[in-house]
Amino acid sequence: MSQLSANLEKLRVEVKGKVVVPGDSNYDEVRKIWNAMIDRHPAVIVRCAGSGDVQRAIAFARENKLEVSIRGAGHNIAGNAVCDQGLMIDLSTLKNVRVDVQKKRAFVDPGCTLRDFDEAVQAHGLATPVGINSTTGIAGLTVGGGFGWLTRKYGMTIDNLISAEIVTADGSLRRASENENPDLFWAIRGGGGNFGVVTSFEFGLHSVGPEILAGLMVYPFAEAKQVLRKYREFMESAPEELNIWVVLRQAPPLPFLPETVHGKEVVVLAIFYSGEISKGQKMIEPLRSFGNLHGEHIGAQPYAQWEQAFDPLLTPGARNYWKSHNFIDLSDGVFDSIIKYAGKLPSSQCEIFVGCISGAANRVASDAMAYQHREVKYILNVHGRWELESDDKKGIGWARDFFQDSAPFASGGAYVNFMTEEEGDRVAAVYGDNFNRLSQIKNKYDPENFFHLNQNIKPGKG
Ligand SMILES: Cc1cc2nc3c(=O)[nH]c(=O)nc-3n(C[C@H](O)[C@H](O)[C@H](O)COP(=O)(O)OP(=O)(O)OC[C@H]3O[C@@H](n4cnc5c(N)ncnc54)[C@H](O)[C@@H]3O)c2cc1C
Repeated sequence: MSQLSANLEKLRVEVKGKVVVPGDSNYDEVRKIWNAMIDRHPAVIVRCAGSGDVQRAIAFARENKLEVSIRGAGHNIAGNAVCDQGLMIDLSTLKNVRVDVQKKRAFVDPGCTLRDFDEAVQAHGLATPVGINSTTGIAGLTVGGGFGWLTRKYGMTIDNLISAEIVTADGSLRRASENENPDLFWAIRGGGGNFGVVTSFEFGLHSVGPEILAGLMVYPFAEAKQVLRKYREFMESAPEELNIWVVLRQAPPLPFLPETVHGKEVVVLAIFYSGEISKGQKMIEPLRSFGNLHGEHIGAQPYAQWEQAFDPLLTPGARNYWKSHNFIDLSDGVFDSIIKYAGKLPSSQCEIFVGCISGAANRVASDAMAYQHREVKYILNVHGRWELESDDKKGIGWARDFFQDSAPFASGGAYVNFMTEEEGDRVAAVYGDNFNRLSQIKNKYDPENFFHLNQNIKPGKG
């Protein structure tokens, strides 16, 4: 028996959760993540049952000189949740959400998906801004920033984080908040998985819904420029309860679209309004004259249901390659670039989307926490997605070419949660003026760069 196997026997007894290793019947299932392009083989997976297991896993990795990756819900495009030959700290089975309705607070486990979170808090008519695909993990989303339909009104996910429990590289379990380890709290709000393993998040909540107004309006691709221009103008004065994102893709076979449109390039406005439904109905009326609508499907529905609306287009198991830019303004130049590349999508699942985050997120100081780009109003995602490995070259080439073509119109920086593994050279740009402070805090809490399988911030003296 090798030394590692002998140590594993001890680890199995010590942890409350499960230890999974190559050869176990569930090994392939447990190491799989959302992006099928990532196919890595950890030597050990610790499916943690709580903070104690995380501490034990860290000690085990140190004793056995194993690299460590951290997995929330395994959605990140870069695939850093899973490692080759190292130890994966798997939090995905930790799914409890406790809601303090009086104080409007939620205490959330790190394995929760957005669906787990939304459904638990919406049971009380509460919510906080999170992303737009319900199978995404709350943990990775939060430590990278987090934005979604409610961001214009209530800011980024991190703007609503009140405290966290975190196991740092030395194995200590610490609390981080404005009053406890405030430097650590500053760093984990955007600094990704660089500073330790968050084992609990405390969020502030807002009254939302449960019914909101939401849906889609779909326009001809030939009218894309006009629709995009009108969208830009409309969003300049839109109230913050209203959020609209633009998606350019081939039309899925949605029942409210004529069959002749299915599979054709279209421009979609995805519309969300969290105020009074009748007010929202009036507010969105002008959108109908943005172009000659192919069709629309919009109405009152539960917020938690709308949070799942895009899940069928974003199922796990496809090959995904993304590129992303930040924008302060949307220029005609970027519209031309978007239209050019939406006109040559390499697969029926590829899309270009522009998410709007203007509003509350822009009112936070850029040095208030690690997430820096508070001037950004729109985030563009070049979402390359296909099924076959043989299509990688074509799809990746398209995404990279579009990224280059649209770069001159972007405002710089990047959103860390949308970055692929190869984009390590963009990390400094993600954090801008906050980068030096982050590397100092990294030096304090993780001087050996124990947590380095991430968009890495190296320890430094500043
Ligand atoms: C289909 C899809 C839609 C998306 N939509 C949005 C959106 O609307 N808005 C948005 O903001 N983002 C969105 N994202 C991006 C998303 O925020 C990131 O992919 C995020 O990292 C996912 O978190 P996870 O826990 O599922 O990921 P994982 O892959 O499990 O983790 C990602 C990384 O986060 C770190 N991490 C995870 N858990 C912890 C923890 N407990 N403690 C410390 N570090 C941890 C680790 O470094 C890990 O490598 C989307 C992603 C996808 C694939």
